Amino acid sequence: MFSTLDQLTADARSPFDLVILGAGPAGITLALEAARRQPGWRILLAEAGGFEPPTPAERDAYEGESTGAPYSLLATRLRYFGGTSGHWGGWCRPLDRIDFEARPNARTVGWPISHDSLAAHYEAAARQVELSSNDFGTEVIREQHPGRLIEWGDAGLFRNQLFRFSPPTRFGKRYRDAVSESAVTAVLGATATDYLWNGNRVTGVMLKSADGGGRQIAAKRVVLAMGGIESSRHLLLMQRQQASVAGLSSHWNGVGFADHFGVRPGALWLTAGLGYHRHENDSGPHMAVISPAEAALRERDWNNSCMLLEATGRSEAPVPQNYVMNRGLGFSGRDMWLYDVQMIAEPRPGPDSRISLAESVDSFGLPRTHINWQVDTRDVDSAKAQFAELCLEVGRLGIGRGRMDPVDASAVVASPTPACHHMGTARMSVSAADGVVDEQLRVHGSDNLYVLSSAVFPCFGFSNPTLTICALAFRLAEHLEAA
Ligand SMILES: Cc1cc2nc3c(=O)[nH]c(=O)nc-3n(C[C@H](O)[C@H](O)[C@H](O)COP(=O)(O)OP(=O)(O)OC[C@H]3O[C@@H](n4cnc5c(N)ncnc54)[C@H](O)[C@@H]3O)c2cc1C
Repeated sequence: MFSTLDQLTADARSPFDLVILGAGPAGITLALEAARRQPGWRILLAEAGGFEPPTPAERDAYEGESTGAPYSLLATRLRYFGGTSGHWGGWCRPLDRIDFEARPNARTVGWPISHDSLAAHYEAAARQVELSSNDFGTEVIREQHPGRLIEWGDAGLFRNQLFRFSPPTRFGKRYRDAVSESAVTAVLGATATDYLWNGNRVTGVMLKSADGGGRQIAAKRVVLAMGGIESSRHLLLMQRQQASVAGLSSHWNGVGFADHFGVRPGALWLTAGLGYHRHENDSGPHMAVISPAEAALRERDWNNSCMLLEATGRSEAPVPQNYVMNRGLGFSGRDMWLYDVQMIAEPRPGPDSRISLAESVDSFGLPRTHINWQVDTRDVDSAKAQFAELCLEVGRLGIGRGRMDPVDASAVVASPTPACHHMGTARMSVSAADGVVDEQLRVHGSDNLYVLSSAVFPCFGFSNPTLTICALAFRLAEHLEAA
């Protein structure tokens, strides 16, 4: 049911069993699943915005400062019921198994949980974002369009991978009725601005409306689900209040901000009509991409990445015509197309890439966000090295040629193209020495404060984050039921 801050007064004296702050994909998914699992619980879902996209005044709290690579704090997130799913493109895939591993050079950390511990929850997450299938194998294309994907071989350096596409689910519209009909109490126009503590327990949250009115809400458990940047901003505010909580005072609080970024390394000249574009069948829309095989990632210490092939339909060869006439090339040069390549690159969590609190304050009197986004040139170099190897590989396989365009790594890191995925600043770890939250998403050292967002990702792969955020929501609901 939907309620207002005023109506909450009477109710708010006895503590809610669960208070979830933020109603984007994370908060809505957790609220509905927790209500399903715990019919006896009083659950509050507090959302800063309303049902409609925010006005400039309502966006004020998202304004902030940016240094480092240019990063828009306003354009990359939304502040209303449904959160940034009002913007998202619906690209979905789970993280790869190898994305959970620590690897010495590509990045130093891994996840403290395994891929297996999320696998079961990915299925529920896929339903939540309205995918028709949770199968991310490329057989779906092989069966429908035989011969349209490159066969890399089991021992090859590369492999085909699959993205699936959500409609995209606009969580605010799609789940408004479900929230309304559930036992969840959802309050709009309710911005969390302050927290009450008793030792290591959060005992209450101050919610404020835009007109300055406020209600103090008592809580047994609190989940920050405000998105990657805003959740970190609040963890930094709490650090000032409650430095005795190990996760809040961790060196990693706010540190390691990362976003996927794009690289355009060149083009491939391959058989015309390959199937690396968006397809649709009974299992829904999907698209194959090329990425390095796991063995290659390990052996060469590459970051994970994927390459999208955009068919130009043009046939100009990146090699002179007399090469093409050479029979030894393995292909005739006829019926070939040039495919422009766009890479999505995995960033490493850099110690200087971070969120901090600015001197200036927002209309609620809270310090604004300062973001300093740093992309590491080694991550661009890794993407370039992979594409160079891919060019060699298509030559070795005798299926085509590649054209490498000059990519200036320093220019890419000075002005990267962000994917709007806010990751890494409240990372999951075994102890507070290495991160902010534990394996159950609870802030290290706190009894009852949780973070549910891509901020908890310790490392990132190339998959877009929302499917994994929803999988973590289902996993957290399971944990809260058992705890
Ligand atoms: C242009 C664009 C394209 C994208 N495309 C994709 C894609 O294709 N695939 C993909 O996986 N991801 C994509 N994303 C990212 C995706 O939108 C996010 O991963 C997802 O929305 C994160 O969900 P969330 O619930 O953690 O945070 P959000 O969706 O940001 O929701 C946070 C909620 O918390 C509320 N809130 C904030 N502060 C407070 C407060 N103090 N008190 C109460 N409530 C508060 C906000 O109003 C908001 O409703 C894209 C993002 C953008 C901008």
